[in-house]
Amino acid sequence: MKYDVIIIGAGAAGMMAAIAAGRCGRSVLLLEHNKNVGEKIRISGGGHCNFTNLNTSYKNYLSANPKFAISALSQFSPNNFIAMLKHHKIAWHEKEKGALFCDDEAWQIVDMLKAEMDKVGVKIRTQTKVERVDKIPDGFSVSWQDETVSSISLVIATGGKSIPKMGSTGFGYKIAEQFGLRVVEARAGLVPLTFDPSILSQMSAMSGVSLDAKVSCNKISFEDAILFTHRGLSGPAILQISSFWREGQELVINLAPNVDVFEKLKAARQENGKREISTILAEFLPKRLAQLIGNSFEGRIADVGDKVLQKVGERVNEWRIKPVGSEGYRTAEVTLGGIDTRDLNAKTLEAKEVVGLYFIGELVDMTGWLGGYNFQWAWASGFACGQEA
Ligand SMILES: Cc1cc2nc3c(=O)[nH]c(=O)nc-3n(C[C@H](O)[C@H](O)[C@H](O)COP(=O)(O)OP(=O)(O)OC[C@H]3O[C@@H](n4cnc5c(N)ncnc54)[C@H](O)[C@@H]3O)c2cc1C
Repeated sequence: MKYDVIIIGAGAAGMMAAIAAGRCGRSVLLLEHNKNVGEKIRISGGGHCNFTNLNTSYKNYLSANPKFAISALSQFSPNNFIAMLKHHKIAWHEKEKGALFCDDEAWQIVDMLKAEMDKVGVKIRTQTKVERVDKIPDGFSVSWQDETVSSISLVIATGGKSIPKMGSTGFGYKIAEQFGLRVVEARAGLVPLTFDPSILSQMSAMSGVSLDAKVSCNKISFEDAILFTHRGLSGPAILQISSFWREGQELVINLAPNVDVFEKLKAARQENGKREISTILAEFLPKRLAQLIGNSFEGRIADVGDKVLQKVGERVNEWRIKPVGSEGYRTAEVTLGGIDTRDLNAKTLEAKEVVGLYFIGELVDMTGWLGGYNFQWAWASGFACGQEA
């Protein structure tokens, strides 16, 4: 059986490509190794899918060439996706900073995409793990176990390496190498960071504590919640910075971004010198954290000099910490790196040197910040490719 288009991987990008190609009248076969399509969509955004971000621009992406995203993003914008939701009567809301979530369950989006694929006759085969791809004279052949199918165009939408138990295989990188495309080294992104056991033992009482903080590394900062875990730090601000952090680098964390702690302590000493430092810190820090920091400076604040207060201020406003690593692909929301954009056409996502072969979604070296940018790239790159494939 020969199709116009075969798409490997029924995630966000693969399904959008199938819809776009089907709407153009192409016969489409979508192959998925999991039992169900769109597994990552279903669990995303805490079960409510942060499906896009109204502020999407190429500036929200990490890549060797973020501007590569401009063409695809301009072909399918957040408003195009919102129009699909409206058509399917799926309610949504803006949570913060342009991030849009479903009011109800994330599976509504999977159902919407399935309905759209159904409308244009996309054939879906799940529980099919593609093992081999070959170039044939008039297209490509795709094989698994004892079956082979072929197509004129082939779209690789197999995602990155994050969360292997959800079907991530790294298969797409092998196909890229097979056809001579360059691959930017992959690494885990949007991932909790881990600390050395000696630091963890000092912080064991902090596990579960969360607070708003400003986290900086490599000249970029994010202000959002951080969460102390039994392995290190997590929470949105840490996930964001993890994509910019490299092993061996230090994070600078301001645990009270709206308070100049040195000034605050000096003023408190003047007002009432009988209080302890931890009591004053607890006015703007979670109690357990205030105790951890304050307890190393025991005694009445009246007995403490400026030098010590300055040290306390630095511990809060400029906490410097060197993670030892990250939790890796096991918990990473995304994979940084991927198919080198220099080898792809920005308008269509087709390989420059292999006519009819396309790479889309997370597999490409284009990784969004936290906040719906990754799905927007998946929809946009899928749409751009499906129009052409
Ligand atoms: C827990 C979690 C929460 C997230 N929440 C959000 C969020 O709220 N907002 C946001 O923007 N992003 C979020 N992301 C990131 C987002 O899910 C991904 O960026 C996006 O799903 C990538 O889509 P994709 O289609 O490129 O890849 P994927 O969704 O990974 O799809 C690839 C598909 O290919 C299949 N496959 C792989 N190899 C083969 C093979 N050999 N044969 C057949 N099939 C194969 C896989 O089974 C998979 O279904 C989240 C990620 C995680 C892990």
